[in-house]
Amino acid sequence: MSKTALITGGAGFLGSHLCERFLKEGYRVICMDNLITGALSNIAHLNKNPNFKFINHDVSKYIDIDGEIDIVLHFASPASPVDYLNYPIQTLKVGSLGTHNALGIAKEKKAKFLLASTSEIYGDPKIHPQPESYYGHVNCIGPRGVYDEAKRFAEAITMAYHKTHGLDTRIVRIFNTYGKKMRRNDGRAIPNFISQALKDEPITVYGKGSQTRSFCFVSDLIEGLYLLSQSDIHEPVNIGNPKEFTVMELAKIILKLTKSKSKIVYKPLPADDPKVRQPDITKAKKLLKWKPSIELEEGLRETIKWFEC
Ligand code: UDP
Repeated sequence: MSKTALITGGAGFLGSHLCERFLKEGYRVICMDNLITGALSNIAHLNKNPNFKFINHDVSKYIDIDGEIDIVLHFASPASPVDYLNYPIQTLKVGSLGTHNALGIAKEKKAKFLLASTSEIYGDPKIHPQPESYYGHVNCIGPRGVYDEAKRFAEAITMAYHKTHGLDTRIVRIFNTYGKKMRRNDGRAIPNFISQALKDEPITVYGKGSQTRSFCFVSDLIEGLYLLSQSDIHEPVNIGNPKEFTVMELAKIILKLTKSKSKIVYKPLPADDPKVRQPDITKAKKLLKWKPSIELEEGLRETIKWFEC
């Protein structure tokens, strides 16, 4: 009999890619999402698959599912800074109550558990690049605190369930990821710049554009997630592409690839925007034998094609 995966946030950007991957690996997939930032269009093509089932449910509320579940992948959460600023309470609730409920169903079903955590738990980092051993530098009452602290709590409760109840847990710290199925208006740098460039509208660079990020193409990330889900590593693991770019470099690459006539305009830097971000992926390389393979320009070309449709 095939195994069953419960994927919370399964109609979101990463969640929907995970649904596809787990179906391909022969799992039955239960996708749970309340659609505040996810979209049915991300999973519409999966509805004909008899191994796929969608449940519209807010995981911050008690989760009740009949039958066996072998693995719970907890990916529900607003994940773009604009989204978590628009939904601060929901973001805190899904990271805390939602993680508690997702752990609860994993415990009841004796299922494995994978928590989607984030590079945001490092805040505006004082150590660069960021290894998993770094505790971070987060402003808990700043605008990003709702996401950062919710995910820090989520990691803490996941480890507590592992240590106290022996739950078979894993934690991935996901760094900036991009690719098809990102919402055009989700407010992050890559969808914003591509949408603006394709319409020849001004490219909105925040601050001077000297802040850095390291962008991972979605297929590389999903491969790392799948390997982690099948591993026995209980400590957090960074998954991301360590190649670092300034936001200005990113804007210029997107202008070049889209052959856009857009001009760059400068907007204020949002509060607590991290000045640098780059994953140290030594652990993933060693323990999962994983490293990303898609270069930024190659991944952006694919993403631009999808945005053009
Ligand atoms: N950014 C920008 N213009 C935009 C959107 C984002 O300059 O239209 C900057 C943002 O200030 C940050 C970086 O791009 O420094 C990455 O932002 P994003 O929202 O993609 O994700 P973050 O890494 O901050 O979670």
